[in-house]
Amino acid sequence: MRYVDNVVDLIGNTPLVRFRNVSAGLSATVLAKVEYLNPGGSVKDRIATRMIEAAEAEGLLKPGGTIVEPTSGNTGVGLALVAQAKGYRCVFVCPDKVSEDKQNVLRAYGAEVVVCPTAVAPEDPRSYYNVSDRLVREIPGAWKPDQYSNPHNPRSHYETTGPEIWEQTDGRVTHFVAGVGTGGTISGVGRYLKEISGGQVKIIGADPEGSVYSGGTGRPYLVEGVGEDFWPTAFDRTVCDEIIEVTDRESFELTRRLAREEGLLVGGSCGMAAVAALRVAASAGPDAVVVVLLPDGGRGYLSKVFNDDWMSRYGFLAVEGPTVADVLGA
Ligand code: PMP
Repeated sequence: MRYVDNVVDLIGNTPLVRFRNVSAGLSATVLAKVEYLNPGGSVKDRIATRMIEAAEAEGLLKPGGTIVEPTSGNTGVGLALVAQAKGYRCVFVCPDKVSEDKQNVLRAYGAEVVVCPTAVAPEDPRSYYNVSDRLVREIPGAWKPDQYSNPHNPRSHYETTGPEIWEQTDGRVTHFVAGVGTGGTISGVGRYLKEISGGQVKIIGADPEGSVYSGGTGRPYLVEGVGEDFWPTAFDRTVCDEIIEVTDRESFELTRRLAREEGLLVGGSCGMAAVAALRVAASAGPDAVVVVLLPDGGRGYLSKVFNDDWMSRYGFLAVEGPTVADVLGA
């Protein structure tokens, strides 16, 4: 019989898939590391396991303990999945702009979700930050992973994602491209690939236009999970050779093409990273092997990136020829 004993054992060892269509005309090989194939549906399963195991080893998280994290997205799912397998309680704090669907995914795994008003100052006691701090202080046995400052976030990528990419490409990877959110992925994978290749592999970050990583002022953008208005300690910027700025429009256009032309239904930050990877590939030679990490799947974005009305509202949809509605006079 072939089976795993626990769904957590399925985390990592994700495949590389070659781009065949969106990379047409480029001589370099572009390979996508498809992280939505993790059991929780994103790259964040990796950091959740590593951060929880480290907290257990350091005595920060004890049997019956509670994990409290301000997150609404993929990190919450990863933490909830691992917590469920290990018998911990989870409380996630999220701003009220987060969709009901996202909150319900966390509840489905058995987590509690505390929703905070967005329209209050950070110092307000009802704010997202204050509520999570108070919960950590007042719930006995509570522990806050804090993915933005936890060294086990980049370490999980140094120990798993980086070595996987090196082995899967037989050491032929020449460029690694990833979006930067907490910076954990690029810092951990980047450091590993730099070390093992003697500095040969180029590490390229992708960043939404407006984010501070590519020199922006923190101006808002729509792509989710990447870019920041501050510099987290999980991000080691000395590892990046270059940071490429990508607009929302470019990110979402390519995200949609990845589903239609490559069969990869992925999130908007994947399109963003892929834009940067194609730019890198366009200026690299035929021997280049560009690996781009795609953090999550597209199901969580059906009412945004994959919805024509939403895309049109922001002026992102290029209309070519008459629509079905035009023809039918509807
Ligand atoms: N894309 C998505 C959808 C994410 O949730 C995240 C994590 N915030 C990232 C990209 C960036 O990954 P990292 O935090 O490791 O920089």
